[in-house]
Parts: sequence; structure tokens; C-alpha cells
Amino acid sequence: MKGRIHNFNPGPAALPLPVLEEIQAEFLNFKGSGMSITEVSHRSKSFDEVIEDAAARVKRLLKLDDSFHVVFLQGGASFQFCMVPMNLLPDGQHADYVNTGTWATKAINEARIQGKTVNVAASSEDRNFSYIPRQISFMPGGAYVHITSNNTIKGTRWATFPDTAGVPLISDMSSDIMSKPFDPSPFGLIYAGAQKNLGPAGATVVIIRQDMLERVPQHLPAMLKYTSFVEKNSMFNTPPCFAIYMIQLVLKWLEETIGGLENMEIINRQKADLVYQAIDKSEFYTGTAEKESRSLMNVTFRLPSESLEKEFVKQAAENGMAGLKGHRSVGGCRASIYNSTPMEAVKALVDYMDEFARKSG
Ligand SMILES: *Cc1c(COP(=O)(O)O)cnc(C)c1O
Repeated sequence: MKGRIHNFNPGPAALPLPVLEEIQAEFLNFKGSGMSITEVSHRSKSFDEVIEDAAARVKRLLKLDDSFHVVFLQGGASFQFCMVPMNLLPDGQHADYVNTGTWATKAINEARIQGKTVNVAASSEDRNFSYIPRQISFMPGGAYVHITSNNTIKGTRWATFPDTAGVPLISDMSSDIMSKPFDPSPFGLIYAGAQKNLGPAGATVVIIRQDMLERVPQHLPAMLKYTSFVEKNSMFNTPPCFAIYMIQLVLKWLEETIGGLENMEIINRQKADLVYQAIDKSEFYTGTAEKESRSLMNVTFRLPSESLEKEFVKQAAENGMAGLKGHRSVGGCRASIYNSTPMEAVKALVDYMDEFARKSG
């Protein structure tokens, strides 16, 4: 569509154009209600259908059985950093965390600040979080194992999840949820801020297994308890209605247009392969993540100098490509190619990379 550019933002990030168009078309009169989706009651039948459908699609896409609940919360993934240990890590027990970068570090800090006992079972800090550790020392008797499935800033991801020998696995999946199928059965809880792969900012999807709810301490304030939201189907208080509606439409696109997570993974691999090939074949670009740990969602790379990186990002913007600057904490460049980033955008990026290297290398 005219005037729209190729968007490689890390989050909030690109969303499927057909979804944006659908929202635009029904924005003033939602499903014949005579009101905008932003004006209808969250207790209305029309919104009830939206939230029910969104949760049902999460379950279908991830093949979750009835032991899992899907709720929509607020506060972003960062709020889950504190809510997870508050609800699921009983005093006197410990939890194992694997530290794979900025977000994992924050999750660890938010547990410790509550006086909880955290065992850092593995860390890749020794090489600037450029890989996913394979040597993991779980401490027996842990309440859960926490990982970050995709490290948005460092550009790494768990290609396969660690074997926790029955201890519930908990993952921050903010930047790769719905990017591929996986076996959900080892997971006690999964959370994801919506603004990378699911929709706009403002909603957090939390998937929680029934047995985990038994741990929720009675003394917590209602707004901090998972049980409050599970018991009321995300309607303990007014949920982020518009964000949930958009998530519903993105999931519908994923199921009905893309054809589910198996297809999505194939497309995501093709997109990522194109960018990594452009990096690997050149002497100009250097990938910052170790090969076996490379993310399919966030491709991080360096150029020969910081001034060239600046120029790369600047000229990309002039050529209709946004969001290629690396996170402020690491520098360099990063192309975020989530589910919604079309293949044409990736091809345009790769062409631009080739040309920039030729001109400047
Ligand atoms: C973006 C991101 C976060 C932070 O999400 P907020 O919704 O801003 O709190 C946490 N974890 C990961 C993996 C992320 O990519």
C-alpha cells in the first residue's frame, strides 16, 4: 500500500496489513453494533465473542489441552518478571533461571528483589550473551525453571528447550510466541507481551497450567494473583479490549491466511535464512550471535565501523526501511523479522544490504 514502508522495528513491530485494513474498515461500526470496538462494553456479547475467540485461537494454534488457561493481562512482559515468582515460587524454595541476556537478567532481579531464592543454573554472560548455554546445572527441588525463549536484544534463541526432568518450565516468549510449533507439555507458564508477534502494546498473553494455580498465595492483592484473572476469564477488571481484539485478528490471520504454526515456521526460516546468508557470504557484515543459537526473529549484526552502521541505518531509512538500529545497550544493527514481516520486506532488505556492502566495502 502506498506510503507504507518496510518495518523492521523490534517492538511495537509490523502487523499484517490485511489485519490493519480490517480494523480500519470496522472501526466506526463494530459488527453492526453502531459503536467502535473502543466504545462497546467489555461485558457485552460482542466483546465476549472477541475474547473467547482470541483465547480459543491461542489454544488451537499452540495445541494446548484443557489443563491450560489463557488469560490477557496488562503490564507487559516486565510485569510477569515480578508476578511469576510472587505467585509460583513459595518461600523456602528456589527457582532455576537461565540468564541469556537483558530480559532474563531483569526477570532474575525481579525475583531477588522480593527476597526469593534464585539459582542461576546457566549464563552466557561470559561471551556477551551471544549464545544459548548448553551446560545447565539445575539445583534439585526447584519450583520452576525460567528461560527466555528468544533474546530480542542479543538475537539468540533456544532451538530446543532444556530438559527439566519434570520441573515446570516457564518461558518469556514475548518475541517468538506463535513463530513455530512446540510441545507445550513441559510448560507450567508461558507469557508474552503482545507487541512483538501478536498485536499492539497493552496486552500480555499468559498461558498457565491448572496445577500452577494451586501455588498462588492467598495473601496477595487480587490484581497480582493469576487466579483472579483465570476465575473471571480475564475480566476481573476491564481488560485491554482493543489490544485483545487486535490479537484476535492477528491470530485469525495466522490460522486462516498463513495456515498455522507449521507454515509460519517454514516462512520464518526462509526469511531468516535470506538475511543470515547475506551476512555470511559477505566480509562486510558480521553476525553477533553464534550460529547454532541464532534467532529467527531478531537478526543482529555489525558493520566494520560504528560510522558505517550509522550510515547503513540512515540510508536504509531513506530507502523506506525502518527500525534497523541495534538496541541502545548493544549497538550495531538489528533486523526484526517477526511473523508479520512480509517476504518482500526481507528481500528488499537483503538487496539493500548487498548494495550497501558493495558501495562501502
Ligand atoms: C520486549 C520484551 C520484553 C519487555 O516487554 P514489555 O511488554 O515492554 O514489558 C520482555 N521480554 C522480552 C523477551 C522482550 O522481547
